[in-house]
Amino acid sequence: SKEKGGNRCTFYNPIMDIDSFKRFTLEKDLRLAIHDNKLELYFQPRIDLKSGKIVSAESLVRWNHPEWGMLSPAEFIPLAEDTGLILPLTHWVELTVCSLITSWQAEGISYVPISINVSARQFLSKNFIQSLKQILQETQVDGHWLEIEITETSILENQKLVESTISELKTLGIKVSLDDFGTGYSSLAYLTQYNADVLKIDKYFIRDVTTNPSNAAVVKSIIHLAQGLGLKVVAEGVETMDQLTFLKQYECDEIQGYLFSKPVPVTEFKKLLAKEVLI
Ligand code: C2E
Ligand code: CA
Ligand code: CA
Ligand code: CA
Repeated sequence: SKEKGGNRCTFYNPIMDIDSFKRFTLEKDLRLAIHDNKLELYFQPRIDLKSGKIVSAESLVRWNHPEWGMLSPAEFIPLAEDTGLILPLTHWVELTVCSLITSWQAEGISYVPISINVSARQFLSKNFIQSLKQILQETQVDGHWLEIEITETSILENQKLVESTISELKTLGIKVSLDDFGTGYSSLAYLTQYNADVLKIDKYFIRDVTTNPSNAAVVKSIIHLAQGLGLKVVAEGVETMDQLTFLKQYECDEIQGYLFSKPVPVTEFKKLLAKEVLI
């Protein structure tokens, strides 16, 4: 009918205007921030539960907006994905991580592999592997120092392409982890189909793991299943000693969370790296 279809856009809607104005300026500002090197990378360590040592770290982008202050990636990553700005953003992250690794090598400090979050759209884009290869070559970094995190939901479509991209990454020595595991409704068959190295249990399940028996059951069985398939298991969002005790008891491999450290700027991360044993 006309009411439903025809006249939809003729009403003046001030709220929509403000939203689209904010979106527009945010997009413009983000484009500039990427171009002018105004984004920042933070690092959150991953700790091995057997040795108590930092074995890797996740890179997480930060944007201190001149007017709106520190913006959460949850606010601007979706915008970057919608506008295509995610491509130069990820390129900046990859280059920044590899350049840091080069500088750590030159300083002679002991460091760890760094993981990079890659959105589905980018992971499946034609240019992804080629551009990563070029960065590795330019910075002279070995692929073994990198891990790529893709969300469980991003691997549900285009299985052939996902499979071949994963195997190309592995040829470069780069590890692959399935992020936010447990939230994506994927069948467990995906775990056997893809040749991933790491599975990160979403923090949603960890939050109530000691108080909610069904979350505890989910976490236990994910650990068991993943290890049976030769994957390393990382618990995200570990905030309490009780959660840590639970995860140790069920032999989770690694943890990441505020209990040990929030994501921190690189200077602080280097101080953490210099410590011997952490937990
Ligand atoms: P994610 O990949 O699941 O990253 C983990 C998020 O959990 C981070 O939020 C981290 O700060 C937070 N976190 C870590 N430990 C704890 C904890 O103990 N408790 C709680 N409540 N939270 C914890 P952050 O940094 O705000 O990033 C949010 C999301 O934005 C990320 O979720 C990721 O999906 C996306 N993101 C961040 N950086 C990048 C990036 O460089 N590229 C892309 N494509 N996405 C990114
Ligand atoms: Ca992640
Ligand atoms: Ca995650
Ligand atoms: Ca997430």
